[in-house]
Amino acid sequence: MKQPRTLELSDYLAIEHRLGAHNYKPLDVVLSRGLGVYVWDTDGKRYLDCLSAYSAVNQGHCHPRILGALVEQAGKLTLTSRAFRNDQLPLFYEEICALTGSHKVLPMNSGAEAVESAIKAVRKWGYEVKGVPADQAEIIVCADNFHGRTIAIIGFSTDPIARRGFGPFAPGFKVIPFGDADALEAAIGPNTVGFLVEPIQGEAGVIIPPAGYFKQVREICTRNRVTLILDEIQTGLGRTGALLAEAHEGIEADVTLVGKALAGGFYPISAVLSNQEVLGVLKPGEHGSTFGGNPLACAVARMAMKVLVEEGMIQNAQAMGDRFLAGLRALNHAVIKEVRGRGLLIALELNPDSGGARKLTETLMAGGLLAKETHTNTVRFAPPLIITEAEVDWALEQIAGGLGIY
Ligand SMILES: *Cc1c(COP(=O)(O)O)cnc(C)c1O
Repeated sequence: MKQPRTLELSDYLAIEHRLGAHNYKPLDVVLSRGLGVYVWDTDGKRYLDCLSAYSAVNQGHCHPRILGALVEQAGKLTLTSRAFRNDQLPLFYEEICALTGSHKVLPMNSGAEAVESAIKAVRKWGYEVKGVPADQAEIIVCADNFHGRTIAIIGFSTDPIARRGFGPFAPGFKVIPFGDADALEAAIGPNTVGFLVEPIQGEAGVIIPPAGYFKQVREICTRNRVTLILDEIQTGLGRTGALLAEAHEGIEADVTLVGKALAGGFYPISAVLSNQEVLGVLKPGEHGSTFGGNPLACAVARMAMKVLVEEGMIQNAQAMGDRFLAGLRALNHAVIKEVRGRGLLIALELNPDSGGARKLTETLMAGGLLAKETHTNTVRFAPPLIITEAEVDWALEQIAGGLGIY
């Protein structure tokens, strides 16, 4: 009998290097198992996951109830396409609308697809409802945004690495500074149909706007009949200690985008949530997706939303986030420039002369904590929302120890 092939860490790295596109620079850890807040590498070493797959695993790895829903539905029906109806999609609609207070839902797969779909719907709303002349619709976005990786989306990114070499890009987008309501007011013209913005800029390094910014944004958008599109793909579904981060600002968006944790890390599913008016403009044949709204995705998402609420994960994110932030703020190390965050979306920014945060994430990894640097000097801490006090305290000890290298 042929022996099963045994691979060392170096083998996995070599295969990836040889055969994969080099569009990521991951930490050199090869994971093969996960449960709750923990993941294990191929040597059986355990790590506390403080990234949660960029907030796609808010419910914790391999949550048993979501796993159960996945397995059950996978044995019944997985994909019908939207040429036919399935018995999960209507229930998904009902439950996500009840949870988020939305009126209409468009199910898609990835976050970027939800963003693209919202852009299409809002443009069409602009022409059909607002009366913007054909092909003149304009959408305002913010500097340092992150909304995904498609051509349309990177076309309005301000990150040169995301854009360089990929043009030409789609017209119809205008960039203003984040957190500046006057800039929004000044940028709006007669053809402005939407303002697309993250409640907290996650990929930019957990950038929290000034207090009151979104109240002003809401008022400006309403007064000018501009659709406020909040990209909550990272901030949504409990991450910041509220179901949606808009709740911290006391506002409601016209269109909300969710993805990532919507299926607890089991399946790619995203959704555009809107008032009646915006998604109401789409007619049969104008938009679609083979996998969007499939019964497997819907069954998994229904359970992922249910456990988030029933198991108190949103409140826990608030309480553990407060503890994590307070612990980081108490560290008082000279290399720390700033600690910021909301709920369990937290950033530790080091001074520009620190030599970079990569050596901190590597030190933390050696000690059994996985976190990822974003840009050069910032580390993001975003563990699953089920993390306990003892686990937060352990993480803080590791971070305090890790800072010893500076
Ligand atoms: C991750 C992310 C996206 C893109 O989601 P994908 O599923 O990777 O396409 C869009 N917006 C925000 C705010 C994100 O964090």
